[in-house]
Amino acid sequence: MGNKKIVANQKMYMTREDIGRFINIIGSLSSDQFIVCPSSIYLNEFQDTNLHLGIQNICPYEKGAYTGEISIGQAKDYQVQYAIIGHSERRSFFSEKNEMFQKKIELCLKEEVTPIFCIGETKEQYEMHKTNQVLKRQLFDVLKNIDSKQISKIIIAYEPVWAIGTGLVPTEQEIDAIVVYIKQLIKQEWNQEVEVLYGGSVNYKNIQKLKTISSIDGFLVGGASKDAGELLKMYEVVVS
Ligand code: PEP
Repeated sequence: MGNKKIVANQKMYMTREDIGRFINIIGSLSSDQFIVCPSSIYLNEFQDTNLHLGIQNICPYEKGAYTGEISIGQAKDYQVQYAIIGHSERRSFFSEKNEMFQKKIELCLKEEVTPIFCIGETKEQYEMHKTNQVLKRQLFDVLKNIDSKQISKIIIAYEPVWAIGTGLVPTEQEIDAIVVYIKQLIKQEWNQEVEVLYGGSVNYKNIQKLKTISSIDGFLVGGASKDAGELLKMYEVVVS
């Protein structure tokens, strides 16, 4: 499936000043394989850069009285091509549920924005060897009503909850087996092929090793995406 992608999820880490510095270092990078998802309030700062853009979340409704939300149409006004859906932080801190993820994915597909749908097991589920079961449930509950021809337009991000922001990473063998499992499930159920990213404590130190996992199509990088220099080095590793 071609070169591996890096998707930078900057969460709520950056100030406007940080964004200015980040853009000075990395703003001229133009690559389909490199996507930055800043805080939405700073999307405007990226308009004169060459970077491909994603949004960290979108409203499940198209338009109207939804105080504090950002619609997919508004995101598209700022050249957003990707949207992160179902991140574990949205699930745990904002109680977002499957029904909402389905609506968001449907809206993305309608508006031709690529959804990056995040799934992953908790530490407890991992220790109880329930990872495959949990991932299957998360995928089926959200994607069951999506037209099968659209499934290949969705990117899946496998992000074990216990690996996000903790410095813990599954072994390469574990990641490979899970990504292969996800791809097989999608093939069996929808007869489609999808790209699958890995996310969870990826950084410049471990990306060299992680990039050798042939089944994965790229990385969702959180904490390490704040530092433009480190991110650029990670991109160079991935495309080399
Ligand atoms: C994430 O939030 O998607 C993520 C992968 O975070 P981190 O890289 O900080 O673990």
